[in-house]
Amino acid sequence: MTADKLNALIDSATHVYVAVNSCGCWSAVTTDLSACGNEEMAKYTADDVADFIRSGQRVERVSLEEWKKKPFVSITKCPHKQNASKEPTA
Ligand SMILES: [Zn+2]
Repeated sequence: MTADKLNALIDSATHVYVAVNSCGCWSAVTTDLSACGNEEMAKYTADDVADFIRSGQRVERVSLEEWKKKPFVSITKCPHKQNASKEPTA
């Protein structure tokens, strides 16, 4: 698949899957390509979602509109520090 085709697929997506920390921050995202009609791309989505679950996160499927409304916080920048158990908590 060319990058152009991939971008077109991603542009046509209406939903994304987000990985949700227990504090509620969104720490990862993957475009939902499960309905794009391309099995190979649908598998990428499934693999990403499986990775989120394996890393102990909750997964939510949200529309692109919802996704754009909420700021994305990378897992290392989560202000709640729930994933930084190695750091001492004051
Ligand atoms: Zn957080």
